[in-house]
Amino acid sequence: MTHEIELPIPVGDLVGPVIRDLARRSGHDLNRWLDQVHRLGGCREPLRLTGHSTTVDTCTGEVISRYTTKAEPHGQLLIRCGNRRASRCPACAETYRRDTFHLIRSGLLGGDKGVPETVRTHPRVLATLTAPSFGPVHRGPGKDGKTIVCHPRRTDPACFTWHKTGDPRIGQPLDPETYDYTGHVLWNAHAGDLWRRFTIYLRRHMAAAAGLTRKVFNGVVRLSFAKVAEYQARGVVHFHAVIRLDGRSCGTSLAAPPPWATVELLSDAIRSAVAAVRVDAPEYGPLAWGQQIDVATISPGALDHGTALSERAVAGYVAKYATKSAETSGTLDRAVRAHEIPRLHTMGIPDHAVRLIRTAWHLGNALSRPDLAHLRLRDWAHMLGFRGHFSTRSRAYSTTLGALRQARADYRLTQRANHERAFDPDTTLVLAHWKFAGQGYTPGEFALASGLASGPPNDPPPACPSLALVSPDGSDRFEITREEV
Ligand SMILES: [Zn+2]
Ligand SMILES: [Zn+2]
Repeated sequence: MTHEIELPIPVGDLVGPVIRDLARRSGHDLNRWLDQVHRLGGCREPLRLTGHSTTVDTCTGEVISRYTTKAEPHGQLLIRCGNRRASRCPACAETYRRDTFHLIRSGLLGGDKGVPETVRTHPRVLATLTAPSFGPVHRGPGKDGKTIVCHPRRTDPACFTWHKTGDPRIGQPLDPETYDYTGHVLWNAHAGDLWRRFTIYLRRHMAAAAGLTRKVFNGVVRLSFAKVAEYQARGVVHFHAVIRLDGRSCGTSLAAPPPWATVELLSDAIRSAVAAVRVDAPEYGPLAWGQQIDVATISPGALDHGTALSERAVAGYVAKYATKSAETSGTLDRAVRAHEIPRLHTMGIPDHAVRLIRTAWHLGNALSRPDLAHLRLRDWAHMLGFRGHFSTRSRAYSTTLGALRQARADYRLTQRANHERAFDPDTTLVLAHWKFAGQGYTPGEFALASGLASGPPNDPPPACPSLALVSPDGSDRFEITREEV
């Protein structure tokens, strides 16, 4: 008589990757992992790091603490991805939005972060600079939210529909065949240059209006900027910028500007500088700003008055745009790959965005258009040609994002001193080496993390082990704060 011997089936073959992953997370591992996830504050795509850090007493040279990721689950430490874009990570984008809000606000209100309260008396405006038309597009509701009939120009085609907010046709060309796609992409690609030239012209025009040489003007007045880029529905960037006039006097930072440097002088110079700027695009011709320009005075108060905007409204407005990207115009939120170019329609991308991406790809061919190679249009095709920064400030405007991150790290260090051992950053030095080990959760972690509610979105983000950013080229260089992790 023979017995069939039943071989035990490996557990790993019976269970799916989720259960397998969860099974591995038991005991200490699970607790430590839960702790890490809690500190991520809802980050959707955390970075995984391996490495170690050593905290040294700078007076005695004594090693007072060592940390290595070897004891962590998977041997890796999870940290927040720090992505600015809400489409990629809502939790980290929210932190970025708050930081931007505080940066803009401190540049308007002062009394904080090294900016004196007297900045409230300086001339300040919120200027919106737009692109020109590249062909008529379907019109959505006006600024006041009221719908208007879609008839963009007197002579061009019209559709006579009253498009409501959210209508996917808003921003799409009425006649794609005659739309200037090349001009549109080239304009986006030169938007940063147009901005830079505008800031130079603005100083020149103000100096001329005040009857001063540029040298004398620059010696007594400083212009500070804080700007964000926003994509209009038609897929072209425009800029919202807080522009402030400061005086330069020896020994004082952010002194009051001279009495002749008024908000009227500033506003007039913004309009004339915008009208004067030209940037030449190879084989296309001069690119300029559009006719639509908005300059609103910022008033020192909590409420808007007529055409003047309140400081708070401006900070909120600017911060809101800081977490948006080109995807609001229907494009991808990542770089496009060559094999995707023929099948963009099947990826759910609207026709207008498809044409813009293909135009950028075509112009980005280094063999046929070596004159445009410096614009790296293939790398930025998903951004419809724009490769600039979304949120920038001149140095004198207020504090920096880095300084805010440091302030948060310092705050956590102080908080921790009450619970466990913390080190004084003035007398200790942290030596660290980190390597990028991947991004995102494993399937099991994802299932488990999704089940953990991370609190309502408006709660302050909980402390995370470290604040680090992956470099854009994906290499393992990080900005590590001096906080020991
Ligand atoms: Zn994140
Ligand atoms: Zn229409």
